[in-house]
Amino acid sequence: MDPIRIAVVGVGKIARDQHLPAIAGNRAFSLAATVSPHDPGVPEVPHLESLEQLLEDGPAVDAVALCTPPQVRYGLAAMALKRGIHVFLEKPPGATLAEVAALESRADKVGATLFAAWHSRFAAGVAPARAWLAERRIERVEITWREDVRVWHPGQAWIWEPGGLGVFDPGINALSIVTHILPRPFFLKTATLEIPANRAAPIAADMHFCDTGGAAIHMDLDWRQTGPQSWDIIVETDAGTLKLSNGGAVLSLPSGTEHAEDHEYPGLYARFATLIRSGRSDVDVDPLRLVADAFLRGKRATTEAFID
Ligand code: NAP
Repeated sequence: MDPIRIAVVGVGKIARDQHLPAIAGNRAFSLAATVSPHDPGVPEVPHLESLEQLLEDGPAVDAVALCTPPQVRYGLAAMALKRGIHVFLEKPPGATLAEVAALESRADKVGATLFAAWHSRFAAGVAPARAWLAERRIERVEITWREDVRVWHPGQAWIWEPGGLGVFDPGINALSIVTHILPRPFFLKTATLEIPANRAAPIAADMHFCDTGGAAIHMDLDWRQTGPQSWDIIVETDAGTLKLSNGGAVLSLPSGTEHAEDHEYPGLYARFATLIRSGRSDVDVDPLRLVADAFLRGKRATTEAFID
């Protein structure tokens, strides 16, 4: 079977750290081109400055991976789908829920694959956590996602703009895990978003959810954490406590702790290839919907200006 010719669009941190190595490691794909306005691309691979240029004058592609900031994702995805090109959307899949719905119906009409990728769902501990929790009664959930924005997002102006999500950019990863592992749906009850006086997006958020069985879910998101970083989910159940730490990589159950190799992006590309080969899409907006609800229902509090 011929490899899927793919272009990586938006060559920034995540494209270089994860997408390019994952594509190079998967024989179902061949890297046909890179697209980025300022980045020079990679040696011996055609590079173009815009998706328009790629589609007009560049090498033929079957698929694109959109690794840009979310604010420009819709226009790029719509342009690709118009030509029947399969689309991998980095998380979050769009800047609004309505644009993702429009993309989903466009992909359906043209018979192309649309994949809303949630990389944290492919962390090693997540699938076994989901299987273990399927049998349990959930009593309480505590999500702590505290990291240092200066370490993880230096100089990323887009992340502080409307649609950039601020602290929900990492926080949505936690929500992608929790929506996947908990057996019941859950929804927001109250939220407080702390927004720096000089920015459009939150630097911290405190959120209380409730699942349809009445279990309380608390989420503490903060970008001002220096020193040790926390990406932890604790689920108390009728059969003891489950803990996912390191963003889902390490799973602790009452029976012991399991560590495994990082497999998030190889897992995403294996899934994308399967979806393309079987003519299907996978567009789950649950994590984005909960973030949208936080902006809809949350109380805003202005906090100290943030200087990079
Ligand atoms: P980034 O380092 O700022 O890279 C984004 C790149 O997109 C920029 O370098 C820019 O390229 C390019 N770009 C902007 N507009 C474009 C357009 N219209 N056409 C083509 N390219 C365009 O951001 P990032 O950290 O890689 O994050 C990108 C996305 O991945 C975000 O949605 C983020 O949530 C997600 N993500 C990030 C991480 C992470 O650890 N950083 C992890 C998982 C997912 P030029 O430099 O050439 O202008």
